Amino acid sequence: MAASGSVVPGNRNRRAGANDEGLVFETSKGVEPILSFDEMGIKDDLLRGIYNYGFEKPSAIQQRAVLPIITGRDVIAQAQSGTGKTSMIALTVCQVVDTKSSEVQALILSPTRELAAQTEKVIQAIGEFINVQAHACIGGKSVGEDIRKLEHGVHVVSGTPGRVCDMIKRRTLRTRAIKLLILDESDEMLSRGFKDQIYDVYRYLPPELQVVLISATLPNEILEITSKFMTDPVRILVKRDELTLEGIKQFFIAVEREEWKFDTLCDLYDTLTITQAVIFCNTKRKVDWLTAKMRENNFTVSSMHGDMPQKERDAIMSEFRSGETRVLITTDVWARGLDVQQVSLVINYDLPNNRELYIHRIGRSGRFGRKGVAINFVKSDDIKILRDIEQYYSTQIDEMPMNVADLI
Ligand code: ADP
Ligand code: MG
Repeated sequence: MAASGSVVPGNRNRRAGANDEGLVFETSKGVEPILSFDEMGIKDDLLRGIYNYGFEKPSAIQQRAVLPIITGRDVIAQAQSGTGKTSMIALTVCQVVDTKSSEVQALILSPTRELAAQTEKVIQAIGEFINVQAHACIGGKSVGEDIRKLEHGVHVVSGTPGRVCDMIKRRTLRTRAIKLLILDESDEMLSRGFKDQIYDVYRYLPPELQVVLISATLPNEILEITSKFMTDPVRILVKRDELTLEGIKQFFIAVEREEWKFDTLCDLYDTLTITQAVIFCNTKRKVDWLTAKMRENNFTVSSMHGDMPQKERDAIMSEFRSGETRVLITTDVWARGLDVQQVSLVINYDLPNNRELYIHRIGRSGRFGRKGVAINFVKSDDIKILRDIEQYYSTQIDEMPMNVADLI
């Protein structure tokens, strides 16, 4: 990857961690990488939880952003997909909450129920020895159970905006002790679809709130509005030509016409099942259609989208996480944040509708330095969209080679 000219000296970090070789950040003055968890001032029982969870050393973003977050600064933290941002949320909230109190002190908002639930699980796991109580407050689940858990007392809530707002308005989720708000996938959370809901929550939170924004993609229009609700934030950013990961090889297959995509996918099926694969379509209807058609042709696939009942979504997630199912056909509900380490192949059956989604979708593979392959199905009139993505991120998307299975 080309080194960029405008980087703060000393912020290039080629030694830290297997997966962050050569990553270049643009950081606020004074942000220095801390190369071990031991040196971050983390409480002992939490450190034990971090190591016990399997983390040996902090990733590049963790080296830079953990300290500002746990010392109470507002932080805008960007790093490539799969490099430990959401895990960092989990470990920093564990550090900042006082588990002797029984009040909610940290609130994490995520765009999908599955991501909010995943983050809650990581908090419980890393925070095992500090007895942190976290609760996933998400739509589609029993309101009664939310009430029971919240009244019993939790330190951290990881939720989706709608349900969280609902619980706040019912006064079941008390906000007076909340000192930290973290928006994971923050560019999505501050975009049109979510902005009003986030503001709805925000106005119930105490005025001295610490705010942390996390994402792999932070377009300028999002950075521009942060001054409205953040105070002198520490910024750790990645230039867009550094955003794609070397470990994820990107290819396209020219299919010319829509009708040819299906046969192309069938031809790839053996490759899909080498480990695990996620196939993205742009609509729920198309997910249903493709799933049915694959099954008619005797291929085993599972599928998930936002119109399914939450029970079914949960069952599909757990089968896919356990590796029981290997091929998942889905929508952009799966584009951001979800972490299944065995996913090594992503197929864009349809090209995504924007440049950010492309980064997030292909980032479902190649987690934390693992190898990944992304294959884009392009119709004749899609080629210019693909070339735009390629140029925008200064990356390379070649025609798929015959030996693609060897790259997985
Ligand atoms: P991101 O939010 O940046 O996409 P995640 O926090 O979801 O990344 O982490 C991606 C994967 O890397 C997860 O499986 C997580 O357990 C693992 N991971 C995160 N931080 C570390 C670390 N310091 N050491 C080892 N593995 C890590
Ligand atoms: Mg994440």
